This record gives sequence, structure tokens and C-alpha cells, in this order.
Amino acid sequence: MRRSRAFIPTSKEAPSDASLASHIYLSRAGFISQVASGLYSYMPLAKKVIKKIEKVINEEMAKAGAQEVELSFVTPATLWQESGRIEKFGKELLRFHDRKDNMFVLGPTHEEMMVDLVRNRVTSYKQLPMNLYQIKTKFRDEARPRFGLMRGREFIMKDGYSFHASVEDMDREFDAMEAAYKKILTRLGLDFRIVEADSGAIGGSGSKELMVLAGSGEDTIAVCDKCEYGANVEAAKRSGRAMIPKAPEAEFNKFKTPNAKSIEDLENFFKVDGYYTMKCVAKRAVYEEDSEIVLFFIRGCDTLQEVKAQNATGALDIVDVSEEELRALGLIPGFIGPLEQACAKHVIDNDLKDAKNMICGANEEDYHFVNVDMSVMSEAYFADIAEVNEGDICPYCDGKLSFTKGIEVGHIFKLGTTYSKALKAEFLDENGKAQPFVMGTYGMGVSRLVAAIIEQHHDDKGCIWTKESAPYMVNIMISNIKDESQVILGEELYRRLLEEKVEVMLDDRKERFGFKMNDAELIGFPYTIIIGKELENDLVQIYERKTTEKILVHKDAIFSKILELI
Ligand code: ATP
Ligand code: MG
Repeated sequence: MRRSRAFIPTSKEAPSDASLASHIYLSRAGFISQVASGLYSYMPLAKKVIKKIEKVINEEMAKAGAQEVELSFVTPATLWQESGRIEKFGKELLRFHDRKDNMFVLGPTHEEMMVDLVRNRVTSYKQLPMNLYQIKTKFRDEARPRFGLMRGREFIMKDGYSFHASVEDMDREFDAMEAAYKKILTRLGLDFRIVEADSGAIGGSGSKELMVLAGSGEDTIAVCDKCEYGANVEAAKRSGRAMIPKAPEAEFNKFKTPNAKSIEDLENFFKVDGYYTMKCVAKRAVYEEDSEIVLFFIRGCDTLQEVKAQNATGALDIVDVSEEELRALGLIPGFIGPLEQACAKHVIDNDLKDAKNMICGANEEDYHFVNVDMSVMSEAYFADIAEVNEGDICPYCDGKLSFTKGIEVGHIFKLGTTYSKALKAEFLDENGKAQPFVMGTYGMGVSRLVAAIIEQHHDDKGCIWTKESAPYMVNIMISNIKDESQVILGEELYRRLLEEKVEVMLDDRKERFGFKMNDAELIGFPYTIIIGKELENDLVQIYERKTTEKILVHKDAIFSKILELI
């Protein structure tokens, strides 16, 4: 491509709401243009990057035996009613009616559509296993679209679905897909970690997320310093704590604790570690039809993990409640405890099962119970609802957990028979008996990957594309377009590299050298061949974007040198 003809509107200005490097640089370097909240147009450079990512995905999927299909973006609402997900997904589903008044949904993911495609077509165990995928636009009416391509409303996803005759075979395919996803991210030049994940609204048993490690990531992941264990904090487990503080000594008693409402107040009042206090986090659990106040009890030194809390209640959402709402139920904020209290539903953290020496609210203004033995509450509902802390012990070894930030670029699930049962998609097994398909599902955020690559690969000058993601590998820069010898060499190199099928840009614009160089650094071509003044001595420069190093090469050696580098 000739830069003089290219549509690459670079700019000094970033969008006013842009805070992430990827959002700023992809906008400034003329890759993307925002149309409305969460909606972006891809300009030629972005389109090229997307195609390159898709190529890597397609190659690895082909190697793994998956087949590409393409399902319609507009999906019939009846399918979403059949699976029961129309309510679960809530407002994220964009619904509309056609001229015949039939309701449709813009596809946010395609489990229902893929099951519908396969049911009554794949009818025998002999046709299994089968893995079908597509790379397709998705639409989710996200509550808070932000960070450019990172969280759009319209975005591109690679979504794959596999069908099996047995759980064992699904497990095998799940591992094969994990390996394929690993290869894709490695080829794209990304530093990533595969972690255990929450299964969310899609449902199912095992699930893993592929996290690109970046400080700007929206997800917090807990990783073990000794073994391979890593998990999204939404799902992270611990086997215990690094150190258990000394237990306070006291008799069971009701104690007057004037104004001691917070955990900190209690710690000071009783001179005890927060570990031996009980925190009540009151929330409203919102269900399909109604909602209720739920009291979550955890140790004072822990925090409530909202995704775990949501899973423990089966709620669609967990929202805050006011003091007034609690008082209306007869609860006394600051003094709520699980004992002798039946005003609202309880969920107690697993770590409090049989806990001794605890201090908790006495459900009376200015009173707490001390030395509570939680084994008296063995009939209550216990669940894992607390977030792990840094320093906690790994669930698999004696290593310690620490936190790091990641960008979720992929998510793979063991779905089981959730969708095949709901949609009555069956095959005949070896004994001629009808069975629901056992399924797996594998998602990868293609447009989010464009942003994730830049989050991990940029500097204060702009983008730094990795080899398998770069829109153009080589940029040939003619410093002075009026210098005939520079033009002749530039044109010759351009022609020869094109013949070699190298993705090459020729910067033939009548602009200042500094301006063109800034532009090249902002866009992030891996290599720029600078044809400038040194040509008088038969020398040209190769500038490597990643290291910002320049090497001088003889003009006759430049062609072979650049081929060697790329
Ligand atoms: P998140 O937790 O970030 O909202 P999700 O868990 O809802 O994502 P999945 O349903 O697992 O997402 O979708 C598969 C992949 O699609 C994700 O791993 C992510 O890379 C991508 N993705 C999901 N939502 C968006 C979005 N709003 N914009 C861009 N990519 C997205
Ligand atoms: Mg996910």
C-alpha cells in the first residue's frame, strides 16, 4: 500500500473518554472510529489486524479438526425462550420485532442457534464428535460499554461449540481446545495465563478463562507462587490462611458495645483481630419475578465476593440495600448477627463452619455476642462467598496466592447437557437409545484481542504490533521525496517485497521526516526502512519498533536483511 493513497487518519487528539493506551492509540493511529457508545467502525488498519488474528484462529481450528460455519446474527426470540435464557440475559439482549410482529434478538452468543442447527441433522453417535465454530459480530447491550474495543456493545467473537456422545469425550475436546487457544495466543505474541473461572449465565460445570496479563485488565486473578494454579477472583479458592491470629479468651456472653458498628470499632473495642469478628453484608438478591434481602455473613477480615454471592443465591443480580430497608425488616444495621434472628435469609461463608471464639452482632442496638461457637448453626446455609486474600494458601499446594490483573480474551466451558436438554437435541447411542448431546463451548474475543495486544505492547510513542498481528510488517520511508535516488530505491524495495508477499507500506508522502517518523511509531509497524541522507554513502537504516534500535545496512544488502528479520 502507498501511504499517499491510504485511508489512515492519524491524529494528535485522543477521544475525551479514552483512558487506556489501546483506546488512545487505536483511535489516534487511525485504526478505529467511534460511532456511538460501544459501537466502532474499523478502518483499513484495524480490518487488517482483525483478518490476521482470524487467520491464526482459523489455522489452529483447522489443525484441531473444527469446522467453520456462519450463523445468522439476527436470532429468533423463540430459541431464547426455549432455553430460558431470554430472562437470564435480561437487558443485554437487544430485542426487536419484524414487520410480521415476530420477536428477534441480536445474537450475543450462539449456543441456542448452534444446537438448533445440529438437532435433527446429527442423529447418530457415529456422527460424533463434532466441533463447529464461527467468527462473527455479536451484540450485547452492555450496561457500561467502555475502553474502546475492550468492552464494546457490538464486537467480534470466535465462538465454537462441540457435540459429544459422552462426558469423557467432551473432556478430551475441552483439553484440545485449551491447547489450541494456547497456541493462538502464543502465536499472537501474548503473555497470558489460563485460569479457573466462574461459569456465569451460560451455565455448565468446568470453565477456564484465558487472561492476557496487563495492569489495565478489568479482571483480578489470583495466582499461586508455587504451582500452576490461577483463578479469577470470582472463582478463586483457598485452603487456608497464611497465619491464624491468637484466639480471644472469653465466655459466651452478650456484651454492651456502644457505637461499635464497624469491624474496626470491634477490633479496637475488644482488642481482637478481625478474623474473630463476623461481618454482615446485606444485599438485595434480584430474581426473575421478585427480589429479597439476603444477609451474607463472612469473617471481619474478608470481603464478600459478589459473583460467588450471586451464585450462592441463584439471583440474577445482587444490589445494595439502604439502612431504612433493613430497619423496616426489624434489622439493626451495625449489630446484625446470624444467631436468634429470622428476619431475612442467611448465607454464611464456608470458612465460618464450626468457627469458634467469634464475635457477632446480637441483633440489638449496641450489643454483640462474644465467644460464639458456630457449630450451633450447623443447619444454616453455608457457601463459598468470601473473596480470597493475597497471602492465603493455594487450594492445591502450600504456596501462597497473590493478585495480578488480566484481560479476559477467551473463555472455554464444559456445558454438559444444559442446552441439548432444554432444546431437545438428541442422538441415538450405540444401543439405539436417545441421548442429549454432551456439549462444550469455546469463545474468544477477536476485537478485544486487538485492544489486548496493544495493552501489552505499546510505549509512550504508540502501538507496537507483534509479528502475527501487525497490519504491515514493513514500512519503507522515503525521507525526502524530491531526492530521485531515494525514490528509486524505495520503489524498487517496495516492488520486490510485494513480490515476496511481504505486507509492506511505502511512505511516499511529501511530508517532513519527523512527521512521518512520528506517524510510523504511532501506528507501530514492526520495521521501518528509512531511506535518507546516508544513501549518499550507499547506506540505509532499519528501525525496529519494539527495541527502537536503528541499524545501518548497505543498500545492496537491505532486501535480504529485512527478509531475514521478518
Ligand atoms: P466479560 O466478563 O468481560 O463481560 P463475558 O464473560 O461476558 O466477558 P463470554 O460470554 O465468556 O464473555 O464471551 C467470550 C469472549 O468474548 C470473552 O472472553 C471476551 O473476550 C469477549 N467479549 C465478551 N464481551 C465483550 C464485549 N462487550 N466487548 C468485546 N469483547 C467481549
Ligand atoms: Mg467470560
